[in-house]
Amino acid sequence: MKKYHRLLNRQLKKSTVDAATLKEIAPLLEQINRAYINFDKDLDQAESVLELSSQELYLANKQLLSKFDAISTRLTKVAENINDVIFEIDLKGNWKYLNPAWEKLSGYSVAECIGKPFYEKKYTFDGTPIIKLVKIDNDDFDSKSSIIKVKSASNVAKWVDVSVKKILNKNGVLEGYIGTIVDISDFKSIEIALLEAKEKATLANRAKDDFLSTMSHEIRTPLNAVIGITYALLHENPNLTQLENLEALKFSSEHLLALVNDVLDFNKISSGSLDIEFAEFSITRMLNGIQGIFNTVAKDKDIKFSIKKENGMADILVGDSVRISQILTNLVSNALKFTDKGKVTLDIEVVHETQETCQLEISVIDTGIGIPLDKQEKIFDSFAQATSDTTRKYGGTGLGLAICRQLLELMDGNLIVKSTEGVGSTFSFLLNLKKGKPIDKNDPKNKLALLDTTQQHNFSKSKILVVEDNKVNVMIIKKFLKSWGVQFDIAENGEIAVKKSANTKYSLILMDLQMPIMNGFQACKKIKNNSDSLNKEVQIYAISASTGADIRREIKDHKMDGLIPKPFNPDELHQKLIKLLSTSSN
Ligand code: ADP
Repeated sequence: MKKYHRLLNRQLKKSTVDAATLKEIAPLLEQINRAYINFDKDLDQAESVLELSSQELYLANKQLLSKFDAISTRLTKVAENINDVIFEIDLKGNWKYLNPAWEKLSGYSVAECIGKPFYEKKYTFDGTPIIKLVKIDNDDFDSKSSIIKVKSASNVAKWVDVSVKKILNKNGVLEGYIGTIVDISDFKSIEIALLEAKEKATLANRAKDDFLSTMSHEIRTPLNAVIGITYALLHENPNLTQLENLEALKFSSEHLLALVNDVLDFNKISSGSLDIEFAEFSITRMLNGIQGIFNTVAKDKDIKFSIKKENGMADILVGDSVRISQILTNLVSNALKFTDKGKVTLDIEVVHETQETCQLEISVIDTGIGIPLDKQEKIFDSFAQATSDTTRKYGGTGLGLAICRQLLELMDGNLIVKSTEGVGSTFSFLLNLKKGKPIDKNDPKNKLALLDTTQQHNFSKSKILVVEDNKVNVMIIKKFLKSWGVQFDIAENGEIAVKKSANTKYSLILMDLQMPIMNGFQACKKIKNNSDSLNKEVQIYAISASTGADIRREIKDHKMDGLIPKPFNPDELHQKLIKLLSTSSN
């Protein structure tokens, strides 16, 4: 038999085909034999490819394993050497993993803690805070962190920042918790020291504020007398030399008063204790007041002083009217002071407006001496004036513009100046204010905004009560009230005021605040709260040498109607009385 492939031979041996048939089918057998041989070759090739692939696979696997080992060694190294604690807690609340930092931070060994409940005192810090943080039966958190104060095994207090996160498997099922604990004791002690230092500074500032307030009150009280008596003497037809002396006395005392007020304001702003108040006010009323204050000064200097307000602008705005008025008064007063001929204009324009807000551009324009270019920024520094002879020629403290600029900064505004020497100056700023509710002009209380205060007023129907314990003040106010034809009673303290107001109906009460026996606030409360009182509805105005924000707040809290600052400027007091008595007699 012909030699075929071993497998074909085996098949043929098993078969019973005779030799003749074998010969006959020899070509077919030849073909099958070739197929067997080819199959063998393919098999050999496949086996060698397989051999190669499995070798590559083995190598890749080896590389992967060594990479995995490297990463895991690196991670372990990080976990072992890091200063912060890394932990894992299982579902039963037992420590599952703690890195060595735990021993340093807590004072307990990792070995004694693993497998023990994290919330048990002897396996953790003082456990309560951590229990609060990781409530394992409370499902509502994914991760949370907290800064807590703990105690270590050796009873050392530490501040730590603990963060915990749930571990969820890929089906979202909770498997345990992982987290970190960072020792922030050093930061915390710096923070605590800073807070303590800040508190000390605040206390020191408050003590300084209190000292300055008291001092300024103490200085203003006698000044009140000096200014008042000077005004009174000026009204009593002095001769020419007396007039000159009195004018000098008036100038110096007013300068001193301005200085006291400015220093107090400046200190309050610098120490951050000046608060900007927000309340509705009428801009028309404010501008009328400014016009009233400066009309005479302008007339005396033969300068035209006008206020231009954009037509149709909202009248009731929300802001700190006292401070805005202070800024305007300062700028107009400077403009008039440094202008010898021409005009001073206070111009108010609406730059931008919405239904609820408006942005005003307020400018004070003068045709005065101007400011040299290189001094135009310097004048905003405290105690700075444009030239060294300014105080001698014009007076002033050099604090006004510094205060205006800082007050405006508190209101998000910025005071700028444009000026040409010998031509004039323009001080301007932008102010964003909310609009208030428009005034009901039929309400008698609001008629005062529309009053012409320059007219002579007949006070014969009104009677006022002046409550004041300082004899000099009483003497001064008596003089003025008499000269204006105002009828009045005087009470030396709050108690007498309460008694007097039980029998007489007054059109207005002017109430000093600091008095013996009963102070102004107590007296005001008694008069207004007594339902039988004739003066339940009377307007009570505080008269005080303190004008700070705290006093204004207290006045508001005691439902007093307003504040008239001491010392009085007689013209301002006169106008105020015209306004107040016109409304109260209605
Ligand atoms: P004071 O007027 O009390 O000296 P201010 O801070 O109000 O202090 O002003 C600082 C200085 O700026 C003034 O002394 C003056 O030299 C200059 N100044 C302010 N306003 C004007 C103005 N309208 N025209 C010219 N110079 C002015």
